[in-house]
Amino acid sequence: TEQTLVLIKPDGVSRGLTGEILARIERKGLTLQALERKNVSEELAREHYAEHAERPFFGSLIEFITSGPVVAAVLEGPRAIAAFRQLAGGTDPVEKAVPGTIRGDFGLETQFNLVHGSDSPESAKREIALWFPEFPA
Ligand code: ATP
Repeated sequence: TEQTLVLIKPDGVSRGLTGEILARIERKGLTLQALERKNVSEELAREHYAEHAERPFFGSLIEFITSGPVVAAVLEGPRAIAAFRQLAGGTDPVEKAVPGTIRGDFGLETQFNLVHGSDSPESAKREIALWFPEFPA
């Protein structure tokens, strides 16, 4: 079994899609090991997206992710990392994500793509420690 860190980004929370997204996660068979609504400090946002620090969209990404509360979760299950990325769909909600996925069903713009999911066991470990410092390893 595997764990992954998922965020419902401010657009998903403000549009009232939290329940819909969590329902899809649970129907897939992934279990919620931790769940919290959080206001995101600029420091936490910069740390979370540190690998994108040099990208042209970094400033607006940080502004977006700190613009309102997010819902952070630790999911667990067999191949949880890939399983959630399948549910989410590709980064661009129109060009990459297909209908039936969270981004494909609810998104229009790459920045406002509703959810984040860890992309490897190493990032899952780092991100779980960052968002849930008290979570059992
Ligand atoms: P995430 O890391 O949030 O799961 P991802 O792995 O699909 O998404 P990344 O390439 O890691 O995508 O980009 C991180 C986030 O930065 C994206 O989810 C999106 O919100 C934003 N982003 C990526 N590319 C762009 C872009 N060209 N313009 C604006 N925002 C972007």
